Amino acid sequence: MTLDIIVVGAGIAGLAAARALREQHNVTILEQTRMKSETGAAIHLGPNAARLVLGWGCQLDESPHLNMLREADHLGVIHSKRPIDAQADFGAPWLLNHRVTLHKELLRLATTECEGLPGRPAKLMTGARVAQVDTEKATVQLESGEVLHADVVIGADGIKSEVRKAIVGDCFLAKPSGHSAYRCLIPAEKIAADDELAYLLSPTGLSIFLGKDRKLVVYTCTFEGRRYLNVVAAIPDKDLGEESQESWYAPGKVEDLVAAYANFAPHLQRMLSYTQECGLWQLRDQDPLPAWTKGKAIIIGDAAHPMLPHLGQGGSQAIEDADALGFCFDGHGPSDDIEAALARTFKLRYERATVCQEKSREQALGKRQEGGVSVPVLDPMQFSQYIFTYQGASWWAKKVEGEAAAEADAAEPGPPAALGRAVNAHPLSAATTATIL
Ligand SMILES: Cc1cc2nc3c(=O)[nH]c(=O)nc-3n(C[C@H](O)[C@H](O)[C@H](O)COP(=O)(O)OP(=O)(O)OC[C@H]3O[C@@H](n4cnc5c(N)ncnc54)[C@H](O)[C@@H]3O)c2cc1C
Repeated sequence: MTLDIIVVGAGIAGLAAARALREQHNVTILEQTRMKSETGAAIHLGPNAARLVLGWGCQLDESPHLNMLREADHLGVIHSKRPIDAQADFGAPWLLNHRVTLHKELLRLATTECEGLPGRPAKLMTGARVAQVDTEKATVQLESGEVLHADVVIGADGIKSEVRKAIVGDCFLAKPSGHSAYRCLIPAEKIAADDELAYLLSPTGLSIFLGKDRKLVVYTCTFEGRRYLNVVAAIPDKDLGEESQESWYAPGKVEDLVAAYANFAPHLQRMLSYTQECGLWQLRDQDPLPAWTKGKAIIIGDAAHPMLPHLGQGGSQAIEDADALGFCFDGHGPSDDIEAALARTFKLRYERATVCQEKSREQALGKRQEGGVSVPVLDPMQFSQYIFTYQGASWWAKKVEGEAAAEADAAEPGPPAALGRAVNAHPLSAATTATIL
């Protein structure tokens, strides 16, 4: 009962999918780059994703646990300080990771033969760019011309996905959102030595400084024993002193970053000037896709649901996708109905990913005037409850498939199960849950 599965892309989504699927299946990961390394700054994983990666065996001991949320204005005046105990409130920590650490851990869990890791290690082929996908035959053609066959193809190939083209065509492209984000890591010693900034390091907090049309989000992370303050600075493109590109690797200019925050408090400008270098990423927006699957192929992660980073859920939703694939292909062999398992994965994942996509969009760009898709109406407190209490795909399946069955049996037709689901309020402040980047 083993499937041959090709995963296209070795980012967070692809490696997480390989980790989830290696337990029972033969997985080959095709990555276009030589995998030098993930770059960039930090990535926080809310309890919904932290629970899953820790369950897979991720060793993220270096990653601080978020334990304080601060909300301040552009002058640095703090309006609220809220202790956070995600472990107590949601049953899992809220992890502040360096990206390289998370990526390396997922790579280890996906591809190594290690005591305690179930199944066979996935095979990783680097320098293997996929040029074409046949969704009916589950084959991929590499740029080199080589054709690889499998039972299932998973497209985890990011925002410019080739697999997505094979599934929905090339008319669904993420468009510039009108906003870009600078990001940088500042050595903690520099912050600790500045009397007006030292409080940002202790306790392990996430602080949001909100201006009229831009903001700074800062939190600590640790990499190879050294502590940093991670800064993400989102700003409208019209006020950029330079042009941004849709590339994680594109550099920005520190002087332009500081200039963009000229009306923020002097100590916040000074904080930005402490960085030696920064990246500048053009933020893209995409409407939810009509489908993620076709034939024997599916897309996950940013290939399926790229979202603006204003709720910090893009990577976490990719991890939820991976867990759902592991669940839906549990016990499946080549003679089982692969299309049905892919359709079930899509059905289980679409609502949560779409809620995050739409909510992130609303945070960044305001409410839609028209278009979009219908998602459950959740206020920010309900949103945090909905997102962070997630226990994984098997738990979610019991919930939504059970509700759908009950509704089908009911005499009175109600709203679709997902839209009618009750959610309870949770004591994170509305402003905070609404503005985490
Ligand atoms: C500023 C910013 C801050 C963010 N902060 C957070 C956060 O705090 N928390 C969070 O959860 N999320 C966050 N996100 C979102 C998160 O980074 C992304 O959602 C996540 O990295 C997407 O992972 P992915 O694997 O789907 O795609 P990618 O990381 O894009 O990986 C795709 C991989 O596929 C490979 N590939 C592409 N095409 C091909 C091909 N044809 N053949 C072979 N290989 C191919 C690429 O080389 C790459 O390795 C943030 C995003 C931004 C921009």
